Amino acid sequence: MADAAAHSVDAEVARRAAVEPEARPTEGRVGRLEAHGGRVVTFAAFTQTMDRLSGLKFKPSSLQTHWEALSDLSAAELDAAVARAARECEEFPAPRMIRALVDDYRRDQPVPEEEDRSAPWRGVSEIVLPNGVCLPVKREWRYFCEECSDTGMRSFWCGAKSSVRFPWLGLQRCSRRKEHGEHEWVDACPCADTNPDVQRKKQRAMQVTRKQANG
Ligand SMILES: [Zn+2]
Ligand SMILES: [Zn+2]
Repeated sequence: MADAAAHSVDAEVARRAAVEPEARPTEGRVGRLEAHGGRVVTFAAFTQTMDRLSGLKFKPSSLQTHWEALSDLSAAELDAAVARAARECEEFPAPRMIRALVDDYRRDQPVPEEEDRSAPWRGVSEIVLPNGVCLPVKREWRYFCEECSDTGMRSFWCGAKSSVRFPWLGLQRCSRRKEHGEHEWVDACPCADTNPDVQRKKQRAMQVTRKQANG
């Protein structure tokens, strides 16, 4: 039990270390500057872009508040939000509105592919499955989360220790109380909310669903 706890703490530390570089995009202006290779919008450029909305009702006399709230946006994000506000808004949009439009824009951006995190494998050169099939192993993939292999789901085997099952399935009873036959079952992995690979897969799936819903 103590071993399992120690293992999960280690796994947690490793996961955080792996996730962290992507998990903190904005730490003040300086962090943003570095993250975007200096392509941060200046107040002058910001004002120029926002001025495209000057025909809308209730334009504020100063854009200082908007700048304060939105200065972390990239030029492309601001441009997309302003273009949409010009088409859809009657009144000059509040910072919160602009941010909502930017969120929409970000959601529809192509999700970057997972980078290749495989490395030459120096352990045993093949794995034998329970059905006798031999799988040669040449490279190993480095997962953010070893527990779920970055799928966001963990698989378990509910059954007897002696039963034939895939070697990667840990023994764990499911929540059903009644007597029942052996089976595999899945559970959401604790990494799911922070694992960048899981997030990318989810985002891609959501974009596909939205596209299908829209036509
Ligand atoms: Zn996981
Ligand atoms: Zn069960």
